[in-house]
Amino acid sequence: MLKEIKRLGYRPHVMRGVARTVIGAIGDERTHRTLEVLASWRQVESVMPVQKRHKLVSREAHQTNSTVAAGGVVIGGRKFQVMAGPCSVESEKQVLTTAEAVRKAGATILRGGAFKPRTSPYEFQGLGEKGLKILAKARRETGLSIITELLSEQQAELVAEYADILQIGTRNAQNFQLLIAAARTGKPVLLKRGLSMKIEEWLLAGEYILANENPNLMFCERGVRTFETYTRNTLDLSTIPIIKKESHCPIVIDPSQGAGRADLVSAMCKGAVAMGADALLIEVHPNPAEAWSDGAQQVTLEGFAKLMEELKPFIAAAGRD
Ligand code: PEP
Ligand code: MN
Repeated sequence: MLKEIKRLGYRPHVMRGVARTVIGAIGDERTHRTLEVLASWRQVESVMPVQKRHKLVSREAHQTNSTVAAGGVVIGGRKFQVMAGPCSVESEKQVLTTAEAVRKAGATILRGGAFKPRTSPYEFQGLGEKGLKILAKARRETGLSIITELLSEQQAELVAEYADILQIGTRNAQNFQLLIAAARTGKPVLLKRGLSMKIEEWLLAGEYILANENPNLMFCERGVRTFETYTRNTLDLSTIPIIKKESHCPIVIDPSQGAGRADLVSAMCKGAVAMGADALLIEVHPNPAEAWSDGAQQVTLEGFAKLMEELKPFIAAAGRD
């Protein structure tokens, strides 16, 4: 079957489900021979053209929700997952203290940027590899999985060595060469929505991950740029039902970059859980007032523990564990 698909000029992409196997045949029917001929094969139930430009990420290609496993944690399954930690890795003490506190409160994944994409070149750019080593130590000590940002193609292998999930930041959401490099590491990829990215563009950016043989993609809404100034960005929670409808990939909400205000994080989290998000990405710092980046939006360790308690009834009401 795969040989025949290739012979007709398409690239096959196999997705095995419980009841049936779907083979995506990537190519353009306007320039290649039609695949309709395969409908006569005994083992073929039907041949369907997928018209969406985003094919592999679409629900048409894979009807059930896909799950992503990251260092023992499954995102997109029944269990609701929380990724939490500082915006930037600043010191071993800061990360270990935060990691222990968020684990105790119920988070399963530790976040922290070692390479930071800062708007100004004069701002703290991250500790680099030293930061990755601190995250690895936190993983050893707490058992938490690690998510950290990948900024550059050249660092893909290095960051993938330490991370369980590669975060692609909003400023790089359409850096296609970086997306390809991230996909090729084989590590799960969390793709933030670009600052002014349309949902279709976001889905197509995600398509780069799956089209490069990496099925472990999560979309992450982190707010888009609007005219509003009360909040840093406008967190678009409508992306939750939209991504769920359009795609089989998990959707993660980042209320920290989304609102840019620690006092709004709890309410945005509750909304995200109620609307069917699969996970949250929350910035937590032992002393937000002295944070080296994004101080205004990071919640304290105590604030995070309280937030996790408050989320419990919402998680249960959403039918998650
Ligand atoms: C972050 O998570 O700290 C970050 C830089 O995110 P974004 O790319 O969404 O701005
Ligand atoms: Mn941040």
